Amino acid sequence: MDHRGRQQRLQRSLSNHHLDALLVVHPPNIRYLCGFTGSAGILVITGKNRVFFTDGRYTGQARAEVKGAKIVIARNGPLAAAAAWLSANRLSTKPKSGRGASPARIGIEGDHMTVATRSRLAAALPSSLRLREAPALIEQARSIKGEEEIACLRSAVNLGSSLFDRALEAIRPGVRETDVAAEMEYAARKAGAEAMSFETIIASGARSALPHGRASRAAIPAEGFVVCDFGVILAGYCSDMTRTVYVGRPSVEARGVYQAVQQAQQAAVDGVKPGIKAGEIDHIARKSLQSSRLAKHFTHSTGHGVGLEIHEAPRLAAGQPEVLLPGMVITVEPGVYVPGKWGVRIEDMVLVTERGCEVLTPTSKELVAI
Ligand code: ZN
Ligand code: ZN
Repeated sequence: MDHRGRQQRLQRSLSNHHLDALLVVHPPNIRYLCGFTGSAGILVITGKNRVFFTDGRYTGQARAEVKGAKIVIARNGPLAAAAAWLSANRLSTKPKSGRGASPARIGIEGDHMTVATRSRLAAALPSSLRLREAPALIEQARSIKGEEEIACLRSAVNLGSSLFDRALEAIRPGVRETDVAAEMEYAARKAGAEAMSFETIIASGARSALPHGRASRAAIPAEGFVVCDFGVILAGYCSDMTRTVYVGRPSVEARGVYQAVQQAQQAAVDGVKPGIKAGEIDHIARKSLQSSRLAKHFTHSTGHGVGLEIHEAPRLAAGQPEVLLPGMVITVEPGVYVPGKWGVRIEDMVLVTERGCEVLTPTSKELVAI
């Protein structure tokens, strides 16, 4: 991974956002920028310097993993050490006309720093340093995947997809949802997954109408849909897919609902190309479901970026103006949920390419009856 290049691009962009430094606390952002995979550390980036602060538990790991940044093992914790470093290092400041230097601006990640941490940090800094909520610069950079990242995502997607075969073996009337999830998760770990990328969703019968129906102790009924939404983390990168199967013999109505979701999902996938707005893909999926009068049962957004985190930029939701660009990896996952009755969702991971897109998820989307 090109950690130094990522750091340098971020350094070059700081002044455009009127920042003299950026204090990075979000572990996936730290991992993206310097390779550290531990859970406690702070990366400080200024126009000139890149310093990673962590504590004694991570001495060996930091030395093995951190690329492109100086490592400081902090006795009093990374936050106090980062504050002391910022206080001691003169950051470039733009003098206001005739009034000497103005306070230097330290960008913080508003989505990832608690109010308490911000207060402690502010108290430890001199008045010549001011904290500012920074725009999501790293998240924006992360939304475009490089070649190595795409290779990692492909491996995660393929391992994730292989788990669906285990689900098909395990799903039977009377089997508990948690037993199905357990078989899949055991297979994932045996295949080398670091973890599941989120809690496995196995939602059967009326529970399939819960868009986030995590596997429960409920037994799979003799008849009905089973929504399976799952993913793995491999080499830090997440996979995410959903397939919905039918236990028993699907009625004409059940087949119709499945087909409507399948068509909406395909229409949305067919729309993915560089230059289109994320909200437009959401609109395509909704419009497709309108023709079968099911759009009112599509109660969540159409998709999301996937990478080091299971949910990251861009969001594919109504009205989202963000434009899709080559290298983005997104999910396309429309669903229909009729409360108390049933639900269907189909989800693929899709790579935006120079000319259109490539569906990464290799699994068939035809309705499987068990
Ligand atoms: Zn999913
Ligand atoms: Zn998803």
